[in-house]
Amino acid sequence: MQDSDVIVIGSGIGGLCAAGLLARYGKRVVVCESHTISGGAAHSFRRRGFEFDSGPSFYCGLTDTQSLNPLKQVLDVLGESIQVISYDPLGHYHFPESAFAVYSNAQRYREQVAKVTPQGARELQQFEERLLGLYEAMKGIPTLALRADWQVILVLLSRYLPSLIKILPNLSLVQASVGDVMDATVQDPWVRRLIDLECFLLSGLKAHGTIAPEVAFMLGERSRAGVEYPVGGSGAIVKALVRGLERWGGKLRMGCHVEQILVESGKAVGVRLQKGEVLKAPVVISNATIWDTYNQLLRPEDLPASYRKVALNTPKVESFMHLHLGIRAAGLKNLTGHHVVVHDSSQEITTPGNTCMISIPSVWDATLAPEGHHVVHAYTLEPYAGWERNNSYEHKKQEKAQSLYRALERIIPDIRDRIVLELIGTPLTHAHYLRRYQGTYGPAISAGKGTFPSTHTPIQGLYRVGDSTMPGIGVPAVAASGILCANSLVQPQQTAELLDNLKG
Ligand SMILES: Cc1cc2nc3c(=O)[nH]c(=O)nc-3n(C[C@H](O)[C@H](O)[C@H](O)COP(=O)(O)OP(=O)(O)OC[C@H]3O[C@@H](n4cnc5c(N)ncnc54)[C@H](O)[C@@H]3O)c2cc1C
Repeated sequence: MQDSDVIVIGSGIGGLCAAGLLARYGKRVVVCESHTISGGAAHSFRRRGFEFDSGPSFYCGLTDTQSLNPLKQVLDVLGESIQVISYDPLGHYHFPESAFAVYSNAQRYREQVAKVTPQGARELQQFEERLLGLYEAMKGIPTLALRADWQVILVLLSRYLPSLIKILPNLSLVQASVGDVMDATVQDPWVRRLIDLECFLLSGLKAHGTIAPEVAFMLGERSRAGVEYPVGGSGAIVKALVRGLERWGGKLRMGCHVEQILVESGKAVGVRLQKGEVLKAPVVISNATIWDTYNQLLRPEDLPASYRKVALNTPKVESFMHLHLGIRAAGLKNLTGHHVVVHDSSQEITTPGNTCMISIPSVWDATLAPEGHHVVHAYTLEPYAGWERNNSYEHKKQEKAQSLYRALERIIPDIRDRIVLELIGTPLTHAHYLRRYQGTYGPAISAGKGTFPSTHTPIQGLYRVGDSTMPGIGVPAVAASGILCANSLVQPQQTAELLDNLKG
């Protein structure tokens, strides 16, 4: 007896997109979320009137009708939309020697760079033109049309031949790293560091580790549609996806930790929950990370030993230190919302504590904080290894938060005097609340050294979505992973009907 057609383990953006689409296709879908809040890395949480983003706060293409953002495409087919606030500059980058505003518009961005290095700005233009060429070529094929099996070839040939032809001259770029494009166009060391920084913010890796299409997509979307913040925070996106899922008959069960994926004769047949309950379905989709899925949720004998070994050896980006603050806002005129602070130019930007990301979303959406206050989220990379809840935990926590405080002092010099609520999160906190192996940001799969695994697994009926599958880390990417998975589970004709409906 089957309880549903599909069980999705986890309500991260990848899981919710796959679940919502499959519900839209008419499947009976149940999402089992371990946490009591949905959204995974993108969930919001509330403390004493402050609404905090646990992770992402940087979005583009959430509302634009021409958006290439796969998340927007999923929201559209679910009949959902969200309210956003547009803003520009999209952020300020603070290096030890200078700070400068980063604009969505490529021309304005280069004007800022030219103030530091005119030659660098010219080189940056060549770099951007190469990547924007790829973006233009990719534009004609919506992610919503794609799938992760051989039938994608038929879809592309039958519906998107002219766009496919446009991509052909850019084929080498599709496989290239951003570093390859940078080496061919940019010599200026300042601009090279800037490109490394932007790649790091996106993928957790510098330019040579980041694939070119990822940055092409980011540059193209931000210069075309601009940058937006969802009213109500990241949680508003999650709520919209959950509403869409439920509108099409799907169910979300919270506080519902899956202990094991049940496999019989090489086929996934359901899951066993922590409390012993068994749910049966012929399709199980795991939104947990590759390490959690293959190590925690399956028995070693369920997978071919060599496959399991390679999968579990996937390199990881480190975890994070987080600082979530509620602060008094009095006198903070002209405060802007996004900042990246690099403390020491002689160190790698990837060195834990050296690059700090700051988001103050209440400058756009005042409802996120009590009147007269701001909500602040600052975070930086931090290795998981060495963290233990022992006698020195509290002391180490305070000590490691100092690089975040120093970064915040570049923006708000008297920040420490303004604090009304302080929450310091360590890699242990991150791993616990996000249910992610060692609190990792995701796989550190460098361009040219490997590709993100597909949605398929060696177990029939078991699929994976999220940031340890193709195309990778970040909200648009994991939404794409949900699309690729869901579409692979239906006939191409059903996807074609969905796309035709959307066109109206
Ligand atoms: C600090 C930070 C800042 C970021 N900033 C940005 C940004 O500005 N823009 C951007 O695009 N991206 C950003 N990202 C990346 C982006 O948030 C993630 O790549 C993306 O949200 C991950 O989604 P996911 O679907 O892979 O799964 P996750 O978000 O990891 O969700 C997986 C879900 O599965 C659940 N789960 C796991 N195991 C089980 C189990 N056994 N049973 C039941 N449920 C389970 C978890 O509780 C979780 O809800 C950021 C990430 C972080 C950490």
